[in-house]
Amino acid sequence: MKNLLSLILLFVFLTSCSTLSRKRDQQPSTSSMTESSATEKAPKLVVGIVVDQMRYDYLSRFYDRYTDGGFKRLMNGGFNLTNNHYNYVPTYTAPGHASIYTGTSPMNHGIIGNNWYDKFQGKVIYNASDDQVSGVGSLSDDGKMSPRRMLTTTVTDQLELHTQGEAKVIGISVKDRGAILPAGHAADAAYWFEGGDKGSFISSTFYLEQLPKWAADFNASRKADDYLKAWNTLYPIETYTASGTDLNKFEKAPRGKANAVFPYDLNTLREKNDNYSLIKATPYGNTIVADFAIEAIKAENMGKDEVTDFLAVSFSSTDYIGHQYGVNSIEIEDTYLRLDKDLERLFSTLDKEVGEGNYTIFLTADHGAINNPAYLQTRRINAGYFNRSNFRDDLNKAILNKYGQEDLISNISNDQIFFNKANLIKNNINPIDLENFIAMTITDYKHIDKVFTRNALVSGTMQDGTGKLIQNGFHHKRSGDVIYVLEPAVISYSKTGSTHGSSQSYDTHVPLLFYGNGINKGSSSKRTEVIDIAPTISSLLKIGFPNGATGNPISEVLKH
Ligand SMILES: [Zn+2]
Repeated sequence: MKNLLSLILLFVFLTSCSTLSRKRDQQPSTSSMTESSATEKAPKLVVGIVVDQMRYDYLSRFYDRYTDGGFKRLMNGGFNLTNNHYNYVPTYTAPGHASIYTGTSPMNHGIIGNNWYDKFQGKVIYNASDDQVSGVGSLSDDGKMSPRRMLTTTVTDQLELHTQGEAKVIGISVKDRGAILPAGHAADAAYWFEGGDKGSFISSTFYLEQLPKWAADFNASRKADDYLKAWNTLYPIETYTASGTDLNKFEKAPRGKANAVFPYDLNTLREKNDNYSLIKATPYGNTIVADFAIEAIKAENMGKDEVTDFLAVSFSSTDYIGHQYGVNSIEIEDTYLRLDKDLERLFSTLDKEVGEGNYTIFLTADHGAINNPAYLQTRRINAGYFNRSNFRDDLNKAILNKYGQEDLISNISNDQIFFNKANLIKNNINPIDLENFIAMTITDYKHIDKVFTRNALVSGTMQDGTGKLIQNGFHHKRSGDVIYVLEPAVISYSKTGSTHGSSQSYDTHVPLLFYGNGINKGSSSKRTEVIDIAPTISSLLKIGFPNGATGNPISEVLKH
């Protein structure tokens, strides 16, 4: 509800409604039973939650230590889809968020990476950067962001279209892309956290001209300073038996600290770790996002009228912590136990402000993560590291030998090789010949498992397996010319921490929980895909699907 007039109308409407329903209650019982189920109202608020880098098994690994009001509330009171996957490569944050909310994969929505080589501009670009807008609450480039590169609509866009813009749609995250892509193009606002010396939530002129008072007040309260305190484990450290030992060689300590062990004195470490940016890599990054989301719910009156609103919240500190300490660390376990409490706080705010039964939640992740390969090797599991710059040099040498030409490759990124089209034309080189030559050569390269050429990807539909995932992640216009796939558990990364991006189940298998208004209670191990989420929510809200949607509603989740 967006203005005073509508608020007055709402009051009149609600008053008359309560009279009507009282009359209805007095009617004889038989017809009122059917009537009440047929007239069950749409949710007043949908809350989409994305936990960045949350593997499916974090629900079970830490289950015994979760409270009843956080993850477990959704698992036991809602619908738990235990076999939910990404259906494309690469499994990164921006494509993940775009796919959840557009109901399709990068082949259609066009977000093919966090960064990618833009062959039309001849440079690497960031998925959400936008020179046509300026920051709101920020003068730096951190604010020059929008969802313009996302080519299809989101479920949040469709809600705005369906309600003539009356729905309130807000995206919130520590990461710009985690707020912007879910909120979509037609949103009221997206807010993200600016680190460095700022420590505030900001937005861009794509959405609004200035921060609303509640957001400015939140920033002025300097909560970020309160969170730069000591990070110690929530419970005695010896009780963290679902993780490895605290001191090991698979984790990376923050700058200014010798080892990655508890406690972390954040107030001292902030100096050498880009000041407020340090919050992002601690559980307090999630806490401050929850704080800000709770303020948004209250101050923006979300879920207070008959028009469904949509709050998209992404918790991304889990991702920074996973990258730094790895999936098997006590730091990750502690982060999830604390996030569980932040979720509990968020859910009880929803109960209070919107009312149990009036809101619908879904929770998923934008990708999973691999266990640290050096650690896996200590368990005798095949794993390893791939050196990208050696690979680039070796590939260029092989091409020079064969064609007598340098500069036939413009860029290698996200495991994609981009040709320099102008040089191919100038030298009269058939791109398909070059694709085939590279595929033949690099298939023999150490740690490369599979290779796909543009020609193969555009000339037929791959039925299943890795090829299908590559094809779903391949945008005809934006993607490269040869795509390679590394062996399972081989990554191009430092020897500490964890990463993601592959087609393997450790990266594709993520939680999917639905809860609340219109949602059945239960669980299923039937395979679902992340692209099914937006069509499921569209069906629940009885609104049009996102315009590029290729997923399907998960019917057993929905009551109607
Ligand atoms: Zn991510």
